Amino acid sequence: MVIVLEKNIREDDKQRIRSFLEKRSLKVNEIAGEEETIFGAVGRLSLDPREVEILPGVQRVIPISKPYKMASREFKRENTVVDVRGVKIGGSRISVIAGPCAVENREQIFEAAKCVAESGAVMLRGGAYKPRTSPYAFQGLGAEGVKLLREAGDAYGLPVVTEIVSSEYIPEMIDYVDVYQVGARNMQNFELLKKLGALGKPVILKRGLSATIEEWLMAAEYLLSSGTNDVILCERGIRTYEKATRNTLDLSAIPVVRSLTHLPIIVDPSHAVGIRDKVPPMGLAGIAAGADGIIVEVHPCPECAMSDGAQSLYPEQFEKMMRDIEVLAPVVGKVVSRRPVRSSALSVENRPEGKVTNALSAAESVADYIRRKGSAVCAYSGNQGAFADQAITRYFDDSVSKLAVDSFRKVIEAVVDGRADFGMLPIENSLAGSVYENYDNLSLYEDIEIVGSVTIRIEHSLLAVKGADLNTIRTVYSHPQPFVQCADFLAGHPEWKHVETDSTGTAARIVAESGDVTNAAIASEVTGPLYHLEILKTGIETNPLNYTRFVIVAGKGAVVCPVPNFSAVIFTAANEPGSLYKALGLFSKYGLNLTKLESRPIHGEPWRYRFYANIALPSGVAASAVSSERIRSAVNELQTRAVEDNIVEDVRVLGLYDSAASV
Ligand code: PEP
Ligand code: MN
Repeated sequence: MVIVLEKNIREDDKQRIRSFLEKRSLKVNEIAGEEETIFGAVGRLSLDPREVEILPGVQRVIPISKPYKMASREFKRENTVVDVRGVKIGGSRISVIAGPCAVENREQIFEAAKCVAESGAVMLRGGAYKPRTSPYAFQGLGAEGVKLLREAGDAYGLPVVTEIVSSEYIPEMIDYVDVYQVGARNMQNFELLKKLGALGKPVILKRGLSATIEEWLMAAEYLLSSGTNDVILCERGIRTYEKATRNTLDLSAIPVVRSLTHLPIIVDPSHAVGIRDKVPPMGLAGIAAGADGIIVEVHPCPECAMSDGAQSLYPEQFEKMMRDIEVLAPVVGKVVSRRPVRSSALSVENRPEGKVTNALSAAESVADYIRRKGSAVCAYSGNQGAFADQAITRYFDDSVSKLAVDSFRKVIEAVVDGRADFGMLPIENSLAGSVYENYDNLSLYEDIEIVGSVTIRIEHSLLAVKGADLNTIRTVYSHPQPFVQCADFLAGHPEWKHVETDSTGTAARIVAESGDVTNAAIASEVTGPLYHLEILKTGIETNPLNYTRFVIVAGKGAVVCPVPNFSAVIFTAANEPGSLYKALGLFSKYGLNLTKLESRPIHGEPWRYRFYANIALPSGVAASAVSSERIRSAVNELQTRAVEDNIVEDVRVLGLYDSAASV
């Protein structure tokens, strides 16, 4: 049962409730959520909820109706995020785990680790104890394989996951393995699950060949009730009558499991389909269906593989799939998880030279900075639920607290005067184009720089108080942008009056406070529950391909990105023929992509313009110590040689960052 405690419960009352439950052989787990603190109590004996309800400090008791308790959503409402040495799985991220079916030898696993890391995997897989259908097939390298996997993972900064087939192997695995995988064939090996759960380490629990979702969640319950909190479910295809693929990937299990449990769920398209070319589309389908990630087999030479070669991707196929996942992520409201790059990885020879170096005095990444400070604040313009608020959650997860202010300028000022460590500013929209106000703000405030970016899909909903419907509405509140973006929907209701507000969050607040069924707000769906508003209609934006890119700003030099793939610069071209051409030629010389060039008038100098340029590593070139150097060198040359040669004046580097990373 779930016991919701009173908000201001006294510590001794809490202890009394706990010992009351424990005396009745119930296992008690305390979960402190944002809104309420609960005790989850599970055990063999049934207990009358009324006995608990009358205890001082108890607000209410909710019996768990499902046979699985700790795994159920009733037990824990928020999604579980599993943290594997800094790599997070679950929440708003997509995490990709990749590697060969089996560790075969040192060279093979190192090569596999290198290519999957470079393409963006966050964890390395590789079997050392292989549960093969035939006793004559390759059984894996055993303890030796586990060690090699770990060495390769360490060399490329990837935590490792490998399958455990029997608890007798725990002693030889425990020092090397970050995540244990329980294979499909062992899903109901309850003795193994109990011993594994007791280790308290993360476990990937694959769905059994013929297991129902309920049986699968009961297996998860074994792990959770034995001591671990970190279980990742993995859908890997089930046995059906269909022979065209190795198994049948049960995509519908993903949204079903999502509603039944708080545990993260990933998809293994490799074992599901068994055929290399069918793996990427099913991996993408898994992501589209809401999976928190995928685990996929990649081999440097699939033809030479000792197991599952036919389903192993070539490194190039994997790289292409990663790029497709990157494109898909904002559509499903997620970001692709990156390896946490510690700034200690930034060796002296990788540091940029010249003027850019002063930004490196602190030499801390955004994540390091937050970790060291213990708490950090990110400012945004608008109210709770605004898209900038969502962008902060997406980028920082819950590692910062938020400061709402009422203009973009105030966001920057909060960063400059130290009230906030970071600021979240919209910079461009895929339909409406640049947010010029922020371009100008960025060139105006020299004490800040861009340290990251995040893209949010803009979806609008019509929200109103309980009892309202489309016929009761007379007045609609929103920010000016959503009115434009929902023009087609609004054209169907010409009688509605439009009232502009400073943000969509403010619009929702006004409607909620009015309590009036004639008012509605256009805002995002997540705003609804924040203001206790009902959703009258979702997806009212004219064009669903509507994205806004936000940039994260920080005080100059406060943080540094170890391996940037992106830079934004502002410069003025010298007033001479060919100067812009020469300046841009520099980016081409370093093989960089000029992804955006925008000119903005220089205030006070009529008909003179500043150029705002975005430069990026070409798609397909991952950010690494070597490739990042191209960006740094180009920026450095623009700041030094190009100025000396009178090609440009006033160069300002707005930031060198990883455009795809989040904290
Ligand atoms: C594997 O991941 O290598 C494996 C054997 O998977 P499954 O247990 O899903 O068959
Ligand atoms: Mn395999």
